[in-house]
Parts: sequence; structure tokens; C-alpha cells
Amino acid sequence: MEKFRKLFNRNLKSKNDNEIFKTLPEICEKKERQVFNLHLNYKNQIKSAISLLCVSSLVLIGSFTLDYFENHENNLFSTESFSILVDGEEICKVRKSEILEPTIKEIETDIEKATNIDVVLENKFEITNSVAKDSEITSEENLYNVLKSKVKYKVLAYSINIDGQNVGIVESEQAANNLIESVKSYFTDNYEQSSIVAVNTVENVQIKQVKADNTQIKDPAEVKNYIIKGTNEEKKYIVEEGDTYWTIAGHYNMSLDELISANPTSDPERIQIGDELNLVVPKPFISVQVKRKIVQEEKVDYETSYEYVSYMYNDEETEKVKGEYGVSKIESIVTEQNGIQISKEVVTEEVIKSPKSRVVVTGTQDPPPKKGTGYFINPLPASSISSRFGSRSGGFHTGQDMAKASGSSIKAADGGTVIYAGWHGSYGLMVEIDHGGGFTTRYAHCSDIYVKSGDKVYQGKVIGAVGSTGVSTGPHLHFEVRKYGTAVNPANYIGVQYR
Ligand SMILES: [Zn+2]
Repeated sequence: MEKFRKLFNRNLKSKNDNEIFKTLPEICEKKERQVFNLHLNYKNQIKSAISLLCVSSLVLIGSFTLDYFENHENNLFSTESFSILVDGEEICKVRKSEILEPTIKEIETDIEKATNIDVVLENKFEITNSVAKDSEITSEENLYNVLKSKVKYKVLAYSINIDGQNVGIVESEQAANNLIESVKSYFTDNYEQSSIVAVNTVENVQIKQVKADNTQIKDPAEVKNYIIKGTNEEKKYIVEEGDTYWTIAGHYNMSLDELISANPTSDPERIQIGDELNLVVPKPFISVQVKRKIVQEEKVDYETSYEYVSYMYNDEETEKVKGEYGVSKIESIVTEQNGIQISKEVVTEEVIKSPKSRVVVTGTQDPPPKKGTGYFINPLPASSISSRFGSRSGGFHTGQDMAKASGSSIKAADGGTVIYAGWHGSYGLMVEIDHGGGFTTRYAHCSDIYVKSGDKVYQGKVIGAVGSTGVSTGPHLHFEVRKYGTAVNPANYIGVQYR
């Protein structure tokens, strides 16, 4: 046996097992041959096992690779999938057809929980065979959202009707009521809340329970906007440098009033670059009438009473007592419709300060004819001459200065036609009268004048008041007499028949 082992070990290094087996010496005993055979079988088994392992590794690597390509985004493979159709429209693709049913059920349950009523989905769901790459497949989680955005069901909702016209459907009665209140407050927010007596709508506004598609249910804010504007149209303008309401309105063929009414919260005088203006003129579906109690103070006019004296002409008058306005407190109910006043009703009126009558003194004499008499009277009786006609400090004084208190009455020296009444350079406020026959008179530095160009005046008519307007050092009348335009000395004409 020992001999055999040596031989075997030597041959093992150089030859394969079959050769060893063939070259086994005859001397080997039967038993030893059996042992060797056993050994050979064992070796072959190991070999087969290794081969099997290699093959299966290849298969595994292969299938892992396939799997990799299939599970990662690539353009190589389109494999079997299922298309989900909602109401005939393909909305997505999935790998497993069996996930559709439970997802629909889950959506239905969730909606029922949220709305608290039994709902039946009204969509038609279909599933068809298709092929898709992984990138085109909708995951199970996403399928829920994709389907939910498409589902339609009927729910009990609340429709807002204005004069029978449905202007929007909201999900609850509470939301509908709040919505109508918010429309009303849109038209009342600008008012002092304590002044509001009543808020009504001209139209018949009703909230009705309706069975509606969930897709018809609107956000209350959206419905509010729609009711106020009367449209869903949106058109905005961002204010740029140099813009005014006027130019913007003109550019968009709107009237100024339209642009103002489209922007009730914006002040036309204070727009700034970057401000957003609405260009859609609102035509509200609703007319909100707001009755407000307002209290205002108003001026109460005074009366004028006359006192008659014989020494004055009947077209002359002087104020003896100055009139004073009174004040009354007026409480009224003002009705405004969508912000525009439509009526005002006075409830109470209380005079809190009485007016004081004005007393005027006037004459009883008929005035003389309004034309020149040919005789000049003193235009400012009881005055003193402060500067005479003629050469004066290197110049020439073209009239006679007559000093008297500011406000004193200046009379026309003779009748005639007023040919100038107003500011006249260094003369200040001035009146010039044409008396005919080439004679005119000028009355300068007046504080006030009571006639206008073209007026016909009689002799002695009060035409103005003494003042210090123009180039003057104090209150006085600068009186001029002109003959064919040339100034002559007034001292030679006052109290004189001049023509
Ligand atoms: Zn003068």
C-alpha cells in the first residue's frame, strides 16, 4: 500500500488521473484499486460542481445586468405595460394592471371622508395593454395623485344665484354666506362702520343647494372677484415713469372715470412707478346699496336789510352792519349704490349758530344822468393836497396827490364812460373816465375799484377806494385831468366849468 501511495503521488504531479489509473501496476491489490476509484469519483464531482458554479454565476450576472438596464432609465428597452384611460383619454402607464382598482377605491374612500357624503366616481376607467420604457411608467404613489386630479363626482354644493343667474358654486352653505357678506363688505369697507344703517342688494340673491360636479366647485375668492368685476377677464398695467391716469386711460381707450372705477383703492394723484393698475372696468353682478347716516355742518346764509336815507342816490349803498353766516348741523341718510350716491334725505336740521343780518344803507334820490356835465367836482372831499402838479425832484408830477384814510370813497369828478379799470403799472389800481370834449380823468393807487371798463357813470358816483397800490409811499389819490391826452393841472379844473 505504501508503495502504491508513492507511485500515485509521483504520477499525480505529471499525469492525469486516467493515465495514473492505466499505469497502475498489476501488483496493486484489488482493495487498493477500489480506494483509488473512490478517490477519482470524488475528484470528478468537485470538477462538475465548479463548472456548475461558473455557469450559474454567468446566468446570474446576465440576469442582473438585464435587470439593471430594465430598472434604470435608458432607451434600450420598452417592455410590457398597461395604459390607464380615464374617460377615453390615456393619462398614464403602469407595470401592474392590478393596482388600478385599489387606487380608485382609495380615492373614493378619501373623498368620502373629506366631504362626509357618499360619492360615486363618474369617470370611465379603462386599462389596455401597451409597452413602455421605465421612464414612462407612473409609480403607484403617483398614480393616486394623477387619478385624483381627474376624478369627477357629484356632491351636494351651494350655488349663488343673482336674479336667477348662477354666478358660482361653492362647497358649503357657510362658504356661500361668507362670500356674499364679503362682497357686501367690499362696498362698505371704506365707510365709517358706525355710520352704516343698512346694507342691501338690489338684486335677489339666493343660495341654493345643488348636486354639482366636483369640478364645478370654485374657490370662494374667485367667485367673489367674478361677482364684483362681472367678468373673469384680467388685464393689468404696471405704472412707468411719466405715466398719469390720463395718459394710461387714453392709451387703453378708457375714460378717466372708467380707470378710476377699475382701481377703487388707488389714488389717481399718487400713482408711483411699479404700481399695478387694473384695466378691466368692473360691471358688478350685484348692486350693493349702503344707507349711511351722516352728520354735516353747513353754512347758513344771512339776510340783508336796508335803511333808506335821502342824501344818497338810490343806486348807491354802504354797508352799516357786516353780515355773518350761521352754522347748522344736518343729519341725513345717504344712499350709495356700489359707491355712487343715489339719494340724500335730510332727517334733522338744527341751527347751532344763528346768522347775523347785514344792514345796508341806500338812498332815495334818483341819480343824475350818466354823462359829462362839463363841470368837475372834488373827487375826494375833506382830503389834503400832499403833492401838487408840476416839476418835482427832477421829474414831472402829472397829477395832484390828495391824502385821506385808506378805504375812503373816491367819486367821479364828472359823469362819463369808464375807459380803463384795472392795474396800470406804477399807477397801481386805476380808473380812467372819458367825459367827452377831449377830457379824461385818472384816479390812481386805489385799494379797490367798483367799476369796469365800459360802465357809464354819473358825476359823484363812488368808483373806488383810496389805497397805496403801484408806486406810492402811503394812502392817497393821485388825480389827473387830461385834455386830448396831455396832463393838465387839476387845481385849475376842480370846481370849474371846463367845457
Ligand atoms: Zn401823484
